[in-house]
This record gives sequence, C-alpha cells and structure tokens, in this order.
Amino acid sequence: MVFDSALLRPMFPILAQTAYEHPLIYLDNAATTQKPLAVLDAIQTYYRTGNANVHRGAHFLSDRATSHFENARTVVAEFLKAPEQSHVIWTKGATEAINMVAYGLEHVLEKGDEILITSLEHHANLVPWQQLAFRTGARLRVVPLTSSGEWEEEFAHYFTDRTRIFAATHISNAIGCTTPLSTMLALAKQQGAFTLVDGAQAVAHYPVDVSELDCDFYVFSGHKMYGPTGIGVLYGKQHALEVLMPYQTGGEMVRHVSYQATEFNVLPFRLEAGTPNIEGAIGLAAACDFLSEQNRPALLAWEQSLANHVYTRLKKYGGIDLYSPEKNTTLVSFSVPNIHVIDLNAYLDSQGIAVRAGSHCAHPLMAQLGVTGTLRASFACYNTLEEADRFCDALFDAMEILGDD
Ligand code: PMP
Repeated sequence: MVFDSALLRPMFPILAQTAYEHPLIYLDNAATTQKPLAVLDAIQTYYRTGNANVHRGAHFLSDRATSHFENARTVVAEFLKAPEQSHVIWTKGATEAINMVAYGLEHVLEKGDEILITSLEHHANLVPWQQLAFRTGARLRVVPLTSSGEWEEEFAHYFTDRTRIFAATHISNAIGCTTPLSTMLALAKQQGAFTLVDGAQAVAHYPVDVSELDCDFYVFSGHKMYGPTGIGVLYGKQHALEVLMPYQTGGEMVRHVSYQATEFNVLPFRLEAGTPNIEGAIGLAAACDFLSEQNRPALLAWEQSLANHVYTRLKKYGGIDLYSPEKNTTLVSFSVPNIHVIDLNAYLDSQGIAVRAGSHCAHPLMAQLGVTGTLRASFACYNTLEEADRFCDALFDAMEILGDD
C-alpha cells in the first residue's frame, strides 16, 4: 500500500509557507519534526480548560490536570509496549534521560569497570558516559561499527565480565543506519550489564516494543516524533529504575521529609523532582496518538522510498560521497569533495530547502568517516516525492555553481 503524504499536509500548517519566495521544503526532520494540529490543539486545550499543578491540589482543575497528565503516561507506555505506566519517566528529552541514567548508576560502578558504547553515538550518548568514567575510574570502550551499522571486526570480546553498562543508539542520527541491537543487547546481558538504547532517531519511524527489545532503559525526545520540545522519556524496567539514584531531588519525588532524612517516593515520581512539563506530556501523548493512527509499515516504507530515491539520484549524478546505507534508512548523509557542506547548505537554504550541515553532534563518527561534516536530508511523514526531486535538482545546481572547473 502506498502512503499518501499529501493527505497529511493540511495537518501541518507550518509547511504551507514560502521561504525566500520559494515553497518551504523541510528536510531537517532528524533534528526536529514539525507538529500536527492534533498536538497543537492538545496543548492549547490543556491551557484553555485544564491548567493546574498536578498531584498536589485537591480541586477540580488539579484533578483534571492530573488525570490528563497521567493518562499521557499511559498513552506513552502503550506506545512503547511498556508493561507498566510507572516505567515511563518524564524527562526534558533524550539527553536528560541519558544523564539521569549516567548519574543514577554512578554508585554501582567501581574502578576498572567498563562502559561500552558504539562508534555511531550522538554526543548525548557519549559525553555522559565518558564523564561518568572520569568520575568513577571506569573505562569507556567503543565497539567499532561501520557506517552501514555492521561490525568492523570480531566483536564479542568487547563485552567482558567488567562491562557494567552498555549504551547504543537504535539508529544513527548522522548517517541513518540501524545498529545490530538485538545481538549487542544479548551479549551485554550475558555479562550482566545494564543496557540503554538511545531511540531518539527511531521512534518517529519504527514501532518500538521495549518488552521485545528487553533493554533496561530506552530513551527518546518528543520533538523528533511530532511532539513538543522540552519533553522526553526514560523508559526503564522496574528493577533498573529502582537502582537509579535520583539525579534531582526536591518536591514531588519524596514521601516524607525531616531535617534528618528523606524518604523517597515510589516510581515514577521518585525520579521526577519538581513540577513536571505537563503541557509537554499531553502534547507528546497526542503525538503518539497521531503516529498510532497512521499505517506505520506504509509510513516507514514511504519515508524509506524517499531516502532511497534521493540516494539513487545522487549516486547516479556522481562526484558525491555517500555515507548512508542505500536502503532501509530515512535519511541521506553525504559530502561533495572540494565544496564545503556549509556552502551547499547556504545555497539550498536560498532555495527554501532546509537540511542540516555539520558534524551532527558526532565528532568521533565524523573522524571515523574522515570528514569534518556531512550534509543530511532527513524525511518525515509529510514529505513528498516532488520535494525529494526539488532537493536533488537544487543540490546539482549548487554543485555546478560552487564546484571549481
Ligand atoms: N541521540 C540521538 C541519536 C539524537 O539524534 C539526538 C538529537 N539529535 C539526541 C540523542 C539528543 O536529543 P535531545 O537533544 O532532544 O535531547
């Protein structure tokens, strides 16, 4: 079944505008997605009819806000196939969720323990572990993956009896490949390590089943899956969340406080200090509903077909170094020898086309690829074939204009 992105366009009013007198073409979806009316409406309805602080007051509006807020948690838990809604912890985004785990697990690490990540990580899934290693005397190790997400060498030896934490991205934000997660998670679990999956680039495209993945933690940001900014999720298994020391303390996360001691609250509140991002949670639940209403396999196939179309045209044109896999990806990452990606980006922008140029918060991966940056066109549910073609045509024009003959 072919997915009809045109039917979704009216749900994204932001796309119906021009940029420098050209129709706006938004292909920077891996950075953040646009928001459907359903999300905008849910946030507005909350402020128009239900705004109050949650879990605190005993009045009509507070009850209403609390029930919408907790209902949002249930929607997200169902979206992820999490067994319990209390396994969903609200965070600011993927970055905060990873930091919560990196701080929360500090007490289980000893000098000489190993924290294992892959060579495809976003800085958000690298720097918190590196800093944790510095603080504890643990050793940060990196499994080298190729840019197609495959193993560069025999890998099992990276998973040792000292591996205490294994953290890997589900999908690379910089080059779009999927990592061999289930193999890696199985190896990590054999060694008794805590496992964390960075799903920031996965949730908008792939139906995620955390129970099937069987990881200890799964994190993502709402804004990359049609939800608002400032809200994200730390999913965790019960025992794994219970091991975490709260990374922030204060109101809401406590049961009883005296000057001598504090008794922490139960999950999920134990890990949610302070007034939460209520509108964000409600907006994110609306985004989950929006995605769940789509034909997910057809939507994914559509996004992949756009990426594959662009990949094929770029390869055929020649003179372009492509870093993404040819298939099974929703973005195309590339560079053009002798033309700076920033210059290509500037030309595309002048034509109303939004892409991303740079290192994509993945300096070590850029070093592995031997470049300082790439240009990335990333697709979402509302992108059309015409937009993909206009992007290719504009890129080829830019190469003509900027290339030295
Ligand atoms: N991991 C990956 C793979 C990402 O793409 C991003 C965002 N680019 C992050 C983590 C961090 O997400 P956020 O900035 O929303 O916390």
